[in-house]
Amino acid sequence: MGTSKNLLFITSTRSLLHGEKGEIDFLKVPLRSSTPIGNFILCFSLVLLFEIQSMAQSTSPYKKGKAIPEMYRVLPLGEVKPTGWIREQIQQNLQGFTGHLDSLAPDLILADDIYGKNRLSKKVKSKDVGALGVEGDWQVQFLWWNSETQSNWRDGYIRSAILANDSKHLAKIEKYIQQILATQDADGYIGIYDKELRYRFDNENGELWAKASLLRGLLAWYDYTKDKKILMAIERAAQDVMKHYPIYQSHPFYSTNPNVGGVTHGLTITDVIESLYRITGKQAYRDYCLFLYEDFSKQPLNEDAQYAKLVNDSIFLKGHSVHTYEHLRSLAAAYQASGNVDLKKAMDHFLAKIDWATTASGAAVGDEWIGGRKANATTRGYEYCSLHELMHSYLELFIKSGVPLYAERAEKLFLNPAQGARYPNGTAITYLKSDNSYALTGGLNGDTSDPHQTRFRYSPVHKEAAVCCVPNAGRIAPYYVQHMWLKGERSLVNGLLGPSEVKTNINGKPVTVIADTQYPSANSFKYTVTTTQNNFQLKIRKPQGLSKIAVSESYTEEDGFIVISKTWNGTQTVDITFYPEVVKHEDGNHETYFTYGGTVLALPIASVEIKTKTYPIKGFYDFSHTPQRLVVYEYIGEPVLQVEDKLQFKTVLFNPISKQNEMVELIPMGKTILRQITFKTANH
Ligand SMILES: [Zn+2]
Repeated sequence: MGTSKNLLFITSTRSLLHGEKGEIDFLKVPLRSSTPIGNFILCFSLVLLFEIQSMAQSTSPYKKGKAIPEMYRVLPLGEVKPTGWIREQIQQNLQGFTGHLDSLAPDLILADDIYGKNRLSKKVKSKDVGALGVEGDWQVQFLWWNSETQSNWRDGYIRSAILANDSKHLAKIEKYIQQILATQDADGYIGIYDKELRYRFDNENGELWAKASLLRGLLAWYDYTKDKKILMAIERAAQDVMKHYPIYQSHPFYSTNPNVGGVTHGLTITDVIESLYRITGKQAYRDYCLFLYEDFSKQPLNEDAQYAKLVNDSIFLKGHSVHTYEHLRSLAAAYQASGNVDLKKAMDHFLAKIDWATTASGAAVGDEWIGGRKANATTRGYEYCSLHELMHSYLELFIKSGVPLYAERAEKLFLNPAQGARYPNGTAITYLKSDNSYALTGGLNGDTSDPHQTRFRYSPVHKEAAVCCVPNAGRIAPYYVQHMWLKGERSLVNGLLGPSEVKTNINGKPVTVIADTQYPSANSFKYTVTTTQNNFQLKIRKPQGLSKIAVSESYTEEDGFIVISKTWNGTQTVDITFYPEVVKHEDGNHETYFTYGGTVLALPIASVEIKTKTYPIKGFYDFSHTPQRLVVYEYIGEPVLQVEDKLQFKTVLFNPISKQNEMVELIPMGKTILRQITFKTANH
């Protein structure tokens, strides 16, 4: 979140130099196509991920050409409703960490009216932001933290309450909305700074970031209420930014200090500005996204997503992981606004670098920091914040390009590592977790060398580290739901699978589609379509690794979608069954893992659970988990067989302790606490 993470960077760089020297040596070698990342880039350049509008060489990567229309339209929050297990999970989150975070961390959320009477002024020298800190002038950098905690939490809370249609929570939110709107100044300013501080910084600040996180929640409330007053408040806040940071005549990302987490988180204001473009059609918003990315790229900042670093193959991702992965969609917004092929090239390089940092489960690593090191299922953790932000970025790439690979990646993140880092009853999450998770006692897989490392365990708050991941854990399911269905020109697109209901208009006529399924626990779907004499395509993304598909209607397969094109009338149903098979994969470290359709398989490890802290609110605890008996199994080439038609699998692996081959059970990663996902090959 902030400066304490800069301190962590020093720690991880040190361990990098001493612990993984081989990888550092490799980093010094300029990349060629024979290196793994070079191969990735080669692969990516062969795949047309985005339509290239013009092959003409531009003189500057930021030069504006013809803007590219988005392939699909995102529906307003609430037009897609969760059903089945996803609805239950959102309700459970509301009874769990999402519904209680304000009471679990009242000092950070309720006591600090940071957008109102406690706005930051020159007089404020310090503030309780929840983290362990050392006194010093640099503490000023922390001061925006509570705005992130509050606004990211509220964004997830607002969206969850809308999707669960929970009247008690909706009433509480209505009250908050009125309070926050009342903080808006006559000139449109919404934010955390007093008049003497705002918009004039040469160092760390949360001007844009505090707005981005807050306005995302207000946009959700506008979607739900359609109240023009809300939209007007958001537009006035955006226009206040555009007035004080005028396009091409200001430097919102200027800083004399290159390590400014609040400033660079602020690039995600493109989420808000781009949404305003989508709602109002005003081109000025879109152009402003391009300007923001240009200024961000040109300032001397320690951030991975700057243009010059992205196109340089010898520079790996090093930065604070959540920044890096959220900036992917700001770059995508800039590319879309400019149509500039150089930005397309930067995107391809960025995606290849993210692949290098991606584990078997689809999570991209960063034990806070990516640190220039590649993914590893056992020795690298990933942050819950990063799971959400990377999923959101992939969703934006899917909306823009229509390429189903991005929907598949977003779905994989939500169904596997995100479920696998959430405590099953919705009362806690892990801040950091690794694919192979052998112990959750604070440090990575039981490591005790850093007594301050508490992130690898379950907590409803994680206040010792930062209250960033729990808020984002409340955002991920609602963002997934909103993007399950998108709209094309004459199509309705089910890009993320699962139980859901969408109500929208196509060709000016109302359409309802109910997707009745238990996916990913089962692979059969009943789609019930209701409309009147309406010709459009129903497009459903196929999961990977299928042996067979059965569809009750005539259909075509196009670019990874099942397409049913017809004139729909009255209420009609389509039954689809996917028949996945177990697919064997190798990760970047030559370890073997298995998937079944959209599910990553894991060997569950029975654990001893200890409650290490009891919160004043009933039912909330910090937990530690240690394995009852730890065996790190090895692969011997035996097949993985499904048990009847359940999501349960058997295989034989080598136990290096007993030196015996053993029959073991694999289950979906999303249902595990401790687990083994990748298996090195036994050498006997
Ligand atoms: Zn976090």
